[in-house]
Order: sequence, then structure tokens, then C-alpha cells
Amino acid sequence: MNFEPTNQTPHILHPFHSVLLDADLCVGCTTCIKFCPTKAIRVRNGKAKIFEDRCIDCGECIRRCPKGAKKAVSDPLFVMDAYDIKVALPAPSLYAQFGTAYAQENIFNALLSAGFDEVFDVAWGALVVTEMTRDILAHEALRPRISSACPVVVRLIQQRFPSLIPNLMPILPPSEIAAREARRRLGASSQKIGIFFLSPCTAKVTSVRAPLGYEESAIDAVFSFGDIYATLKRALESPPIPGRPNDEDTASAFDHCAQKGWREKQHPRRLPIMKHLEPGMGWARSDGELDALQIENAVSVDGISNVIDLFEAIENGNIDSIQYIEALACPGGCVGGPMAVENPHIARATMRQRYQHPFEQGTPPSPELPTREQAHKTFLWTKPLVPNPVLVLDTDLSKALQMAEHIEHIRKQLPGIDCGACGAPDCDAFAEDIVRNLSSVEECRLLTRST
Ligand code: SF4
Ligand code: SF4
Repeated sequence: MNFEPTNQTPHILHPFHSVLLDADLCVGCTTCIKFCPTKAIRVRNGKAKIFEDRCIDCGECIRRCPKGAKKAVSDPLFVMDAYDIKVALPAPSLYAQFGTAYAQENIFNALLSAGFDEVFDVAWGALVVTEMTRDILAHEALRPRISSACPVVVRLIQQRFPSLIPNLMPILPPSEIAAREARRRLGASSQKIGIFFLSPCTAKVTSVRAPLGYEESAIDAVFSFGDIYATLKRALESPPIPGRPNDEDTASAFDHCAQKGWREKQHPRRLPIMKHLEPGMGWARSDGELDALQIENAVSVDGISNVIDLFEAIENGNIDSIQYIEALACPGGCVGGPMAVENPHIARATMRQRYQHPFEQGTPPSPELPTREQAHKTFLWTKPLVPNPVLVLDTDLSKALQMAEHIEHIRKQLPGIDCGACGAPDCDAFAEDIVRNLSSVEECRLLTRST
């Protein structure tokens, strides 16, 4: 298997990207270049190539490649071995990976069986974000505000819609909030604590390595659903541990695992088992954030091309009166993430069936949520988000204008049928590649044939 860039091995995470090409499997069919939302892929010498500075790790090319040549790279499970206390942070969508046959508490116990000592649900972080979002909407006038929970959307705005950066909610993502809280609650421990996010999302792998809006992540590693699935399934199919996961049952889970020889050592649980997380669990699917927020004039949009259409409409001034936008790059929301296992439609139905309790405003939704002051002190962005200038032709305005004219000149000579035979996604991108010295006009087969 030959992964590009070639100085990487499949189990070592690239510092900035979690979507890579397996060049051995790529047949240069050009399917992926048509669907990349940032025009980050070219086909050269019969193989796809990702422009790393443009890739936002959306995973769309993973979904589209007919040869399975695009891969999601997450951390290997063995990194857990380096820690004394292993904390699992399951994304809400993990609970949708096994159908309705297994209850939430079964999956919770399966995580303990799999070798984690503690489980702290990311849904708790989603509830914190819900409260903070409602508070910011009540105190700040700018509209529309855009959820920052989907890292692909944040990177997309950085690159293609920088004028919308102020509209993003400056709140840490739920996984990061959950990680910080778990670490705080375990802080007195002298043992080495490892926080492991179980994720369906490639972009969240990247976010842990290259955070947006904050300096450093509290998460030690990200495991894909695909990597942990078989272990959890095996634990789920073992003799059931009866009852809900109260402390007594959790103790029996530890005994059970020890008998099975799945765990070398045992830790008494330190984190409380959380209940009433339903509105946070709903975040696994599109509409879930809005269901939790329960606000007027809010829109949910999912699928990267739909998100782009909506953002273009906002930039063109065609959208007013919208208060809030839940924007999710994956179809159907996080259940449609590229590292998920279950069919996204089934997963969505599972979540709907399992978590349909409406959020009642004014009722404490979950135990031990932080106060407003604590939340704003701890869970807001600490670093300004700056535009990613990758699409800027040149920082010198007069040079940029010259290049734009040159692109337009070349563009007019091209056939304009966006065939992709040159290896670029469309004639616009090809003309720009020529001006940037990344390609030459001879690559256009239609032009060379007609001369
Ligand atoms: S879709 Fe892209 S990565 Fe997959 S085989 Fe075709 S060119 Fe290669
Ligand atoms: S992950 Fe998304 S942005 Fe990156 S190359 Fe694939 S389709 Fe393009």
C-alpha cells in the first residue's frame, strides 16, 4: 500500500490531514475531483493528488471514490496502552452504530469491556454548547449566527467564505468541552490519564492536531468507529450485564471483563454516570442541535454542497431574518460521517427512535452543567479564527488583478465543458492552475486535438 505523502505510514497521523490517498488503489478515474468542495484534488500521471493546503478533511472523496483509494486515518488503538486511566469520549452517533437491539447502557458497558476505565459522553458537551449558544443569541445582535460544531464547516468558512467568520459561534466543540471536563474531574489523580474521542468524523481527527479557535486539545487520540466497532460488537454479544449502568452494575461490568480476561487491571470509576443527556444525544443527526435549542427562525442544513449553497445565498444578501444555522457537512449529520459503520439512514432512524424527548426550557437538562460564568470562562474560543488565504492569487493586489485577467483570458480559450480530462475539476480551476504554474495548456486534450 503506497500512501501519499510517501513519508507517512498508515498508522501515523499526518499533522494536518486525516484524508489520504492510497496511490496503489487509485486508477485516475477523476470521479473524486468533481465532488471536492474546495477543488483540492487533481489527477496527474494517472493518480489523484490532494493539494493539502486546500483540503478541509470533509471526507467527500472517501464517499465518492469507486476504488476505495481515499482513506480516513485516525489513531491506532494501541496508543491507549501508554495510559493508566483510559477515558472514552463517545460521540453521540456511536449509540446509533448497533441498531435498536442494544440499549445505551449496553453500549456503555461494552466500552468498559473494551478496556476503557471511564466513559464521559460528548453529549454532555453538546448540552453545554446548547446553553452557551442560547445565551449568546440573547445578548448579541449579529445575525445569522452559525454553529461552529462541525469542523469541516469552520474550515470551509475560513477558506471560501471568510466574510462569515464573525458569524460563527466562538464556542469550543462538544468533544473538546467533554474532554476538558473529564480531565478536570479526574485532575486530582496522580495516574496518567488518556482521553480518547470515538469519532465518525475525519475532520475531528484533524481538529485535535490542528485546533481551530483554541491552542491545544485536551484529547490525546481519536479512534474511528470502524476501528473500535468489532471489539464493541463482541462485547455486546457476550452475556448481558443486567440493569442500567449504575455504580453497582458498572462494578459487575468490571468483574465480568476481568473474568473474560479482557482487562488486565481494574480502576474504580471516578466519573459519575450521566443521565438525562437526550437533547445532547440528538446532536448525532441533522436537526438535533436545533431540537435541543428550541429557538425560532433557525435553519438546519446538511451535506457539503447544500451548506455551500446556503452560505453563497447569505453572502449575496439573499437570506435575512434567519437567527441561527446548524450547518453539517455530512449528509444526515454526524451519523453520515466517513468513519461511521452503520448506514446513515438507519443510524438516523435509530437516534430518532431512541432519543425523542423534547428539551424543556427552564428544566435542568443534565446533572452538573457549568454556570454561565464558568462556561464562558472555560469553553469559549481563545484564539481568533483567521481566513485561510489559499484561494488568494497573490497578496500584492495589482499582481492578483493581473493574474485574474490572465485566468479569464485562458478560460475563454478553453472548451468550457468541464470534462476533467486535464485532471482539474473544471475549466476555471484548470485556467487557474496554468496561471499558478501548476499545469500547462497542453493538458487540455480537446484543445490539443483541435490544433
Ligand atoms: S475517485 Fe479519485 S482517488 Fe478514486 S480512483 Fe478515481 S481518481 Fe483515484
Ligand atoms: S477530504 Fe474533502 S476537501 Fe479534502 S480532498 Fe477529499 S473531498 Fe477535497
